[in-house]
Amino acid sequence: MGGVARVVVVGAGLGGLAAAARLSALGHRVTVLEQSDAVGGKLGWYTRDGHAFDTGPSLVTLPQVHRDLFDATGGPLEDAVDLERLDPAVGYRFGDGTRLAVPGHLDAVPAALDAALGEGAGAQWRALLDRAEAMWAITEQPFLRSPLRGAATLARLARDPVDVGTVAPWQTLRGLGARYLRDPRLRVLLDRYATYSGSDPRRAPAVLATVPYVEQAFGSWYVRGGLHRLAEAVAERARERGAEIRTGTPVRRVLRDGGRVSAVELADGGEMTADVVVSGADATALYAGLLPPSRRTRAVRRGLTRATPSLSGFVLLLALRGRTPGLAHHTVLFPEDYDAEFDAVFGTGRHRGVPRPVPDPTVYVSAPDDAVTRPDDDSESWFVLVNAPRQDPDGGVDWDTPGLADRYATRVLEVMAERGLDVRDRVRWCVTRTPADLARETGSVGGSIYGTSSNGARAAFLRPGNAAPVRGLYLVGGSSHPGGGLPLVVLSAEIVAGLVGPA
Ligand SMILES: Cc1cc2nc3c(=O)[nH]c(=O)nc-3n(C[C@H](O)[C@H](O)[C@H](O)COP(=O)(O)OP(=O)(O)OC[C@H]3O[C@@H](n4cnc5c(N)ncnc54)[C@H](O)[C@@H]3O)c2cc1C
Repeated sequence: MGGVARVVVVGAGLGGLAAAARLSALGHRVTVLEQSDAVGGKLGWYTRDGHAFDTGPSLVTLPQVHRDLFDATGGPLEDAVDLERLDPAVGYRFGDGTRLAVPGHLDAVPAALDAALGEGAGAQWRALLDRAEAMWAITEQPFLRSPLRGAATLARLARDPVDVGTVAPWQTLRGLGARYLRDPRLRVLLDRYATYSGSDPRRAPAVLATVPYVEQAFGSWYVRGGLHRLAEAVAERARERGAEIRTGTPVRRVLRDGGRVSAVELADGGEMTADVVVSGADATALYAGLLPPSRRTRAVRRGLTRATPSLSGFVLLLALRGRTPGLAHHTVLFPEDYDAEFDAVFGTGRHRGVPRPVPDPTVYVSAPDDAVTRPDDDSESWFVLVNAPRQDPDGGVDWDTPGLADRYATRVLEVMAERGLDVRDRVRWCVTRTPADLARETGSVGGSIYGTSSNGARAAFLRPGNAAPVRGLYLVGGSSHPGGGLPLVVLSAEIVAGLVGPA
């Protein structure tokens, strides 16, 4: 579009903020409207008694995507936040008791696997990552960095039969693992990457093998001071480029005039005219509520009902006395039966369509060694996350059931103890955050972490595109193309800025 556009961005999650920074830098007049009192959305921050926690993301991958955003809007990322590459990247403890510290640099990974799992494990993983690297080369530009254009996107991806064979869209991540990995612990390791998009490895496509490739090739990173700093830095950048950010301002509806957007209606009844609306709100909430239904949006709404929503998470914020020597920044404690976890979360197998909290879940602990997060040097603040079914009082779990969150928190602490991380007598206090809390705080429907999951070969194409079928309306963020997780959310903003164009 030519000329300066009046742009309203709904939501100050990382997606909305990145879009605001880019569109302001392109010369448009941008206002961001955020319902809550703080920016960042899922990139939340919680402090109490000197303990401080990131309440959402704890891992930054693909830092180049963030660098591109900062370079395009006025100056390097490293001037705005302090990024630290983690080494080791993750400490794993498997169901059989094996321990594995995965180094933070790809070259060192195979030897570490050989040492922890036995000779040959490194070669198996290396072969898998070689295939994943080839998948990445094929899909990064036409899929992740381009707007989703249905059949045209498919045709571009399917141009070369060799590429199709490499990406193997018919194969699941589990199936790919079975082909390359003989060691059952490596298969579990690969399966876990399906959860980075809130999915089940038995149904998610093989191309998700690009996730461990990207993580190990380009590193696992932490933002000193907490990952929420990233959202604040992007907000600051947007303001520097002229954007206005209003918190405490919920948007009730996106208004149309004829076939294009004309304004947004605020919860207090006010209106703001707009040439362009960029929605960073959950796509399901946009199409089911904010945007009155019409013939034009029917196909997208149908796609959303066909897709499986992503899993959610149950979080414990643990204020601990004392320190844990030798603990990695990230630790993952696997159960003996990983499939039972996916069955419980998605209500498959013996659960016959009824999800439930996982009795014996994989436990993820993020324990940053960062003075900002603790009241003194003899304390720690742990973010503990387990996969959980979304909030669904009608057909699944109602996380608001009195007592459920506390009982489940006790169970998670017990599981940690059973697997060698017993901190029960060190807990100063524990705050729980359920899928219902996540839904309330960020407007994510059911508390899904990543919008729709990647379950099923067509899932990526059921996710709403960045250009809505209403002129002037665009979608950013984890529930639209190309999907959830910080780097993809930032890529969605780059795609939207490209679609809107310079003033
Ligand atoms: C527990 C947890 C752990 C995670 N771990 C990682 C990780 O380690 N690494 C990683 O890369 N990703 C991780 N993620 C995913 C990542 O946080 C998200 O993909 C990303 O932050 C989503 O950004 P977003 O802008 O799409 O949406 P959100 O952050 O959800 O932002 C949407 C914003 O819109 C606002 N909003 C909604 N509706 C309205 C309305 N009507 N009016 C005004 N404002 C509105 C909301 O209040 C919110 O601020 C994690 C997420 C969670 C919850």
